[in-house]
Amino acid sequence: MKEKKLQYRRGRRKFIKCMGLTVGGTLLSSPLLGFVPGKAGIGEAVKGVKQQKMGIALVGLGQYSTNQLAPALQETENCYLAGIVTGTPSKAEAWKEKYDIPEGNIYNYENFDEIVNNEDIDIVYVVLPISMHEEYTIRAARAKKHVICEKPMAMNAEEAQRMVDACAENGVQLAIGYRLHFEPFNQRVMELGQQQVFGPVKSIKASNGSDMTSGNLDVWRLDKERAGGGPLMDLGIYCVQGAIYTMGKPPVAVTAEFGEVENPIYFREVEESISWQMEFDDGVVAECESSYADEDEQSSLSAEAENGWWKVDPAYAYDGKKGETSEGDMNLPNVFEQVRQMDGQAESFRKNEQSRVPGEMGVRDMKVLMAIYESARNGGKRIEIDYLN
Ligand code: NAD
Repeated sequence: MKEKKLQYRRGRRKFIKCMGLTVGGTLLSSPLLGFVPGKAGIGEAVKGVKQQKMGIALVGLGQYSTNQLAPALQETENCYLAGIVTGTPSKAEAWKEKYDIPEGNIYNYENFDEIVNNEDIDIVYVVLPISMHEEYTIRAARAKKHVICEKPMAMNAEEAQRMVDACAENGVQLAIGYRLHFEPFNQRVMELGQQQVFGPVKSIKASNGSDMTSGNLDVWRLDKERAGGGPLMDLGIYCVQGAIYTMGKPPVAVTAEFGEVENPIYFREVEESISWQMEFDDGVVAECESSYADEDEQSSLSAEAENGWWKVDPAYAYDGKKGETSEGDMNLPNVFEQVRQMDGQAESFRKNEQSRVPGEMGVRDMKVLMAIYESARNGGKRIEIDYLN
């Protein structure tokens, strides 16, 4: 396995502005294209703005909510775990006890819309299988709650755009759970690449894999109807993001190929592995790969620039990140990144400022993912990406 090459209509003008594109297609810098950390730190007091914590309701109490988001919400300064939405009564009871959640802040999937009347809940965080992201984001928006939606944002770009439109129509904000924009190693990559600290970037490599070949077969990640696709949707999106925030602009075209299926019992519906290239307007190419049969669980993001290089490995895991450059160790702290992410997102919601990871960024990424699949389905054909439609 290892040696195998894993290998808004409302929006048209607004979208062009957000994407940093001119009508002629020239790519300009944009807050959507990569965050370069400024001086204001997350969680810093915001002058003149209400300092009360915002209440978050988690929708879907699976692995990520249980092991990462709920513990993180015990440490956040700008938000707290105010409510839950679950289809499992035993989970509701256990979470109520553990996190002292008032009975009135516990919903199921049927009565979820009543959340519109709940003043404790400011933000709904959608942590469900991908096929459910659109429905719960739109229902939350109609209930006038800000939304954080997990990655990948949707099954495709059309769903993602409908989610952005619904949030805009209801006057609420939408952010994607792109935690790495709030994390020091990946922020350093944004800085090194976008500020050309070692000169212009010449090439990028990114890989992200996990091993799903010894676990349960009956999981949504292996079910195309609920996952939309395989490792590209779940893990490869980190590589797509990494290449884009290294460059500070989105790719103009992609080519891709699916890897061989070596574990057909598991991969009847979604791809086992995929490799792809992202081509930028200046000719830089990012070589990327993602697999659900990766014993090494690769997790890396690296770049060669004119006068130096850098590599973060692991780059996407929750902790244990390591990074070095041609000048030595990055010497950065590992942080509880979901704490920073939710604090950052709550702060932007409270200040009514666009999040650094807005819904529009998710739409952009869905266009890239869909182009990658289109290329792989068409024998590696080069697919140019149209961000304007
Ligand atoms: P999970 O399978 O552990 O949890 C899914 C939850 O959805 C469960 O509570 C399950 O009961 C509920 N659910 C409701 N209807 C369902 C259905 N029809 N099928 C399956 N589950 C159903 O998944 P997870 O790992 O917690 O992932 C949830 C979301 O979070 C996904 O979008 C995933 O990509 C994202 N995620 C993000 C990160 C990150 O680092 N940002 C990490 C892990 C997961």
